[in-house]
Amino acid sequence: MLIPLIDSKKQYEYFADDINKAVIKVLSSGIYIMGESVIQFEKKIEKYLGVKHAIATANGTDALVIALKSLGIGKGDEVITTPYTFFATAESIALVGAKPVFADVEKDSFNIDIDKIEEKISTKTKAILPVHIFGQPVDIDSIKALAKKYNLYVLEDACQAIGAEYKGKKIGTFGDAACFSFYPTKNLGCAGDGGMIVTNNDRIAAIARALRVHGSGENGRISYGLINNIYVEKGEKEIQIDDVYNPSKYHNYLIGHNSRLDNLQAAILGVKFEHLEENNNRRLKIAEFYDANINNVKILKPVKKIDRKHVYHLYILQSEERSRVIKYLKEKGISTGIYYSIPIHLQTAFDDLGYRKGDFPSAEFLSERCFAIPMYPELTDIEQKYIVNAINDFI
Ligand SMILES: *Cc1c(COP(=O)(O)O)cnc(C)c1O
Repeated sequence: MLIPLIDSKKQYEYFADDINKAVIKVLSSGIYIMGESVIQFEKKIEKYLGVKHAIATANGTDALVIALKSLGIGKGDEVITTPYTFFATAESIALVGAKPVFADVEKDSFNIDIDKIEEKISTKTKAILPVHIFGQPVDIDSIKALAKKYNLYVLEDACQAIGAEYKGKKIGTFGDAACFSFYPTKNLGCAGDGGMIVTNNDRIAAIARALRVHGSGENGRISYGLINNIYVEKGEKEIQIDDVYNPSKYHNYLIGHNSRLDNLQAAILGVKFEHLEENNNRRLKIAEFYDANINNVKILKPVKKIDRKHVYHLYILQSEERSRVIKYLKEKGISTGIYYSIPIHLQTAFDDLGYRKGDFPSAEFLSERCFAIPMYPELTDIEQKYIVNAINDFI
């Protein structure tokens, strides 16, 4: 039996009829940038999360960059984050000219260790950027309490955790803003790149909307006023759809980005969004099966914290003998993945930050032991049993 880590093709096949229809509708409309599918998808996310603003972007990394800029974070500022995450989390901080400052993680949840954050706060700290890693919410109440005490922003990196909940409330709604990714393998994935910023803050939303389109148009004009404390009268509502000539499009007020979500991708996401809850619950069921049935003294299972709905973007196991386990599973046709083999503070790109091996022992410990096993909604019962049996037979 051959089982991939994730199967994007299988997911497409499940919804192919609806996706094909949605794609053809956009293709024949002739409207490819912004457009109705983007507006509708943003509205769906606003309603789903219960947030005031959802701003679609070209990808999750851009969402983080634009969100940080919308918070006014840049040169000379510090942002506290985790070293045990996908590179883009820390990269986005560096891209806006600020400095990522790491705090070590918890060995059981893989999330940032709340007790390690306070000692990292300096006069330059502007924000905390926690990641809901692998789909499990971070202890966001404690982070918010710290942020309040030191007057810091909280930006949630929710790229792996759409639909996850903390104390019964969807993540992405706790921070000043939150970012999502729709990279194909994420819990809600498109057929390419996509991202989203969500916020309840009108100012952050206006600036983010402006920054994603070259700081232009009505949002650019309003944002220029907001950033420079100049009163600007509210003009006409921004024209979002590009099928009409919009003269304000060529008035640029801020240096921004070209980071829109394609209308085609939004149409695909609109279809898949309808199955998000069902797919996340299916992941939960698979995780429950793994939790209940994987039993091998050489393998450590992931820990689910109380008060949280984990959406299992990845199901992570640990082993002292990782390379041997991975090789063994490969021989059985079972794919695995290593998340993450190098903690961010030891990445070459961040050499200039001056971190060394030993600085974040838990992140380093995990980077040598963790590996993911197949986890996606379309995984069959037979495949799950095959995986469990193989792991249990490892000696
Ligand atoms: C995927 C991911 C991102 C970046 O998203 P892209 O859409 O790939 O740019 C950022 N942070 C985390 C934790 C991610 O998993």
